Amino acid sequence: MKQVTVRVYGPLNDFLPPARRQAAFAHAFEGRESVKDLVEGLGIPHPEIDLILVNGEPVAFDYAVQDGNRIAVFPRFESVDIAGVTLVRPPLGALHFVLDGHLGRLARYMRLVGLDATYLADASDDDIAALAAREGRIVLTRDRGLLKLRGVSRGYWIRATMPRQQLVEVLHRFGPMRAPFSRCLRCNAELREVPKASVESRLEPRTREYYQRFHECPRCHRIYWAGSHWQRLTRLVESTTLEARFGVS
Ligand SMILES: [Zn+2]
Repeated sequence: MKQVTVRVYGPLNDFLPPARRQAAFAHAFEGRESVKDLVEGLGIPHPEIDLILVNGEPVAFDYAVQDGNRIAVFPRFESVDIAGVTLVRPPLGALHFVLDGHLGRLARYMRLVGLDATYLADASDDDIAALAAREGRIVLTRDRGLLKLRGVSRGYWIRATMPRQQLVEVLHRFGPMRAPFSRCLRCNAELREVPKASVESRLEPRTREYYQRFHECPRCHRIYWAGSHWQRLTRLVESTTLEARFGVS
């Protein structure tokens, strides 16, 4: 039997039972174990981890844990400069997301604030992992098991259960928002502005009368304008942004 000391930092504590949070604890294991498997065995999905130190030195996920190791596990800190040490994975580039089938409302909210959020209603975990790898997308899910799949290299476990709070969480974690009202809420494509004349025949008479600027989705051809939902959506975007930035609602 081998024994190590583990200390977990920041929001990664959410994955631990209360007695193990915010403090070092002892963990015993047998045989040969990679640090990735050991840490995932404690409940922490590897895509949430940015850096692992063993006895103060950065290690890769495949490091074979030794008896007596002191293991420190750090989350992704977008705003903290940890350049200069070897991270367990490359840094995030442009942000693209794929959401599992239970996060449809969050996907629409994310599109509303301009984030690239693909949502797969009926896909299997393997399909989601494959799409994430193929298109370089970050997996967002409430299912920790999905994040532990080997094929998932970038992902985040959504803590909140209410869609609006989930959006606050995403902005807080990955912020800031891109371009609000720039994506189709139905299919995630980027909208393009179109001349009124090109969509006029498809408008209701009152819309045709009162509005001049229109955007169209190039994929599903839904038309958008600053109409009835606009103010409500604007308030949602503004309050969510404030909350993500300052923790107020
Ligand atoms: Zn569309």
